[in-house]
Amino acid sequence: MSTPAHRARLILALRSAGITDTKALSAIEKVPRELFVPETFQDRAYEDTALPIGYGQTLSQPLVVATMIQGLELGGREKLLEVGTGSGYHAAILSHLCRRVYTIERHRPLLADAQARFETLGLSNVVTMAGDGMKGWPEQAPFDRISVTAAGDAPPQQLLDQLKIGGIMIMPVGGQSRIQQLVRYRRTETAVESEALMEVRFVPLLPGVAEAAKA
Ligand code: SAH
Repeated sequence: MSTPAHRARLILALRSAGITDTKALSAIEKVPRELFVPETFQDRAYEDTALPIGYGQTLSQPLVVATMIQGLELGGREKLLEVGTGSGYHAAILSHLCRRVYTIERHRPLLADAQARFETLGLSNVVTMAGDGMKGWPEQAPFDRISVTAAGDAPPQQLLDQLKIGGIMIMPVGGQSRIQQLVRYRRTETAVESEALMEVRFVPLLPGVAEAAKA
């Protein structure tokens, strides 16, 4: 089966799992997931499952990526911050749905690979930075949307501070041994409202830039 057919099948699976945002689905259909998956897992690139990408990190399950993207309620003009570039798969999909994607990763080698993939795909509206995404990207703030793809016990205040009034941030919240919830935060004039979207399992949000060897 050709990869476009694999992708079409994935879209059908996402639809039957309850994803209704047609713009999000067509952006997912545009991005070749096999390009973001290590050689050893090529035959599993279109399964609805998370896959290892090295350094103890994972490429998220497509249903979780789709739920996050749908939950961001993107109109196409947004300036978006992603924390946790990983393979770059999620950012590549977002690049088709926003004006510009700013993405931060703490593992430099992962970021270098992701950057090369963005170039291969000609995604010129993705800007990358190696660093600690818990601090956000103050020089580029405020953002219309923030997408955090690693789990923390609570949303970092520095990130909420970099969200525009009316903006949305989505983040998995919870420890590594407990069930995590994907939480949507909306910043209003006076408060930050929160709402749980689904149960998830993400790698941890860690401080600082990583120096760890490949695992
Ligand atoms: N969105 C990714 C999946 C990311 S897995 C994809 O589509 O492939 C989570 C990533 O978050 C890992 O690569 C991890 O290194 C990164 N991460 C964890 N804490 C971070 C932090 N404080 N700043 C930036 N990246 C972080």
